[in-house]
Amino acid sequence: MNGSALLHWLFPNRCACCGRVIYADRRLCDVCRDALPYIPDGECPACGLPRSQCVCGNAKRTFFPCVSPFYYEGVVRDGLVTLKTENATHGVGFFADCMAQKATAAFGGQFDGVVFVPMTKAATRARGYNQSRLLAKALAKRLRIPLLDGALRRLMDTESQHLSGMLQRKGNVFGVFEADPALVAGKHLLLVDDIITTGATLDECGKMLMLADCEEVVGVTVASTKRGRTRAEEEEQEEEQL
Ligand SMILES: [Zn+2]
Ligand SMILES: [Zn+2]
Repeated sequence: MNGSALLHWLFPNRCACCGRVIYADRRLCDVCRDALPYIPDGECPACGLPRSQCVCGNAKRTFFPCVSPFYYEGVVRDGLVTLKTENATHGVGFFADCMAQKATAAFGGQFDGVVFVPMTKAATRARGYNQSRLLAKALAKRLRIPLLDGALRRLMDTESQHLSGMLQRKGNVFGVFEADPALVAGKHLLLVDDIITTGATLDECGKMLMLADCEEVVGVTVASTKRGRTRAEEEEQEEEQL
């Protein structure tokens, strides 16, 4: 057994979406590769209609442009749920590659740093990691720009989980985040999260970054939830994702 075979035996390479063991040079199994719910260029990521037929106007989910390579469906949904619930981070590299490609195509790739949506300390402790930070770190490495840890912080971390959850249920995330001007002032930033649903969380993070005098913020997420559901259902889903 040579070195790489030994490594594969010790740490088997797994499909980013379903976790099946696959050849060392692959990122996905054949089944998942053929079932990726890509968002074609020219399609509205919010309603899934061709841009010429879009009635939601991208639903103005965020005040800044935000792109995603995939819809939050099928095998990508499975992969992202696994990433959050099973302490399984093997999909991070593949998802970061796809985000890097999409963000570079959409924005040209001239960024000074990557920032990410922070989780509460309690949630990070419970899971052991923040999946948005893992994705942002891998993306920053691919784009060869710094990951700005601590640029965004989640307030009300210790004093009131309950209040924070309640505000978010009402779609009101104002006051949940703060940005550090020392890290973001004057910078062109790429804001990362795993999923965009109502956009309320990303929008609030973007506002805080602008208030902290960043020059520009644009967003990228692995996946976008298609609209067409009721607002209440969307909020419920967003809450599940936090
Ligand atoms: Zn698979
Ligand atoms: Zn639309």
